[in-house]
Amino acid sequence: MSQKTAVVTGGAGFLGSHLCDRLLLEGMKVVCIDNLLTGNLNNISHLFGNENFSFVKHDITNFIFVPGKVDYILHFASPASPIDYLKLPIQTLKVGSLGTHKVLGLAKEKNARILLASTSEVYGDPEIHPQEETYWGNVNPIGPRGVYDEAKRFAEAITMAYNRYHGVETRIVRIFNTYGPRMRLDDGRALPAFVGQALRGEDITVFGDGSQTRSFCYVSDLVEGIYRLLLSDEVEPVNIGNPDEITIQQFAEEVLKIMGSKSKIIYQPLPQDDPKVRQPNIEKAKRILGWQPKVGRAEGLKITINFFKSKI
Ligand code: UDP
Repeated sequence: MSQKTAVVTGGAGFLGSHLCDRLLLEGMKVVCIDNLLTGNLNNISHLFGNENFSFVKHDITNFIFVPGKVDYILHFASPASPIDYLKLPIQTLKVGSLGTHKVLGLAKEKNARILLASTSEVYGDPEIHPQEETYWGNVNPIGPRGVYDEAKRFAEAITMAYNRYHGVETRIVRIFNTYGPRMRLDDGRALPAFVGQALRGEDITVFGDGSQTRSFCYVSDLVEGIYRLLLSDEVEPVNIGNPDEITIQQFAEEVLKIMGSKSKIIYQPLPQDDPKVRQPNIEKAKRILGWQPKVGRAEGLKITINFFKSKI
């Protein structure tokens, strides 16, 4: 069998870089494309010198040229934390819409299979709990999170259109909260925020009363699910995430306990449209991919906290 080539957009980001690692381990050639807006070369510096790896600094909202054959495209380029997309609203909308269009064009040209990184944010502030793939969501299009949510909803729509109209082989993963090494300490997400605050001896900022829930998936589990989906025949979206749901208050307490920190928890206003609950229903992933997460929070948090410590 000839060596497969995969293009990873957003390949210098948190998830993209872990995917580059995995695809290289599977023996593929990997072309990593990133404009380094929120990605960072530190995430892929260990791959420079690997003959199967190449990096192209490029903004995929402009025409994408990749020489030679391409078998797989994993489209992960986008600001993805609430703080990032609030700071970069236009770029977020552009990469989800114009960028996804360009990437689909590349897939069509190369006869490649494309996997779109979508998100639990397509469910908005959900009225169905846990969220299953058949739920259409409850998104505020004009709220601050709308720039990300609607961009990803458009990205799903245009991906399905390329599948139906052009016959492009497409896959869509809906990614729920994921954590692990290579997360940015300053991306504003709950975990890096709490760990950074604890390490600096500051108060821990819980937004709202902390009763909102999330379900956190360790990055290696997520990558395994995505890799299985890429190789599967499933065209419609598949949730990948860890259903172990926890309130943000409990989560903050858990992080403080693991760190042995004496920081106090303080409460700040809940950001607009912050989902009150979130938990993936992963029955579909279990059924069609034979996948379920393996890494519990205690283990995953230890590894991730040690990573953050090494960065401070
Ligand atoms: N959060 C918090 N304190 C922080 C950062 C986040 O309480 O310093 C809350 C946030 O309001 C949300 C949850 O933690 O309810 C998860 O936020 P995150 O930014 O990690 O991702 P989201 O799931 O909202 O996309």
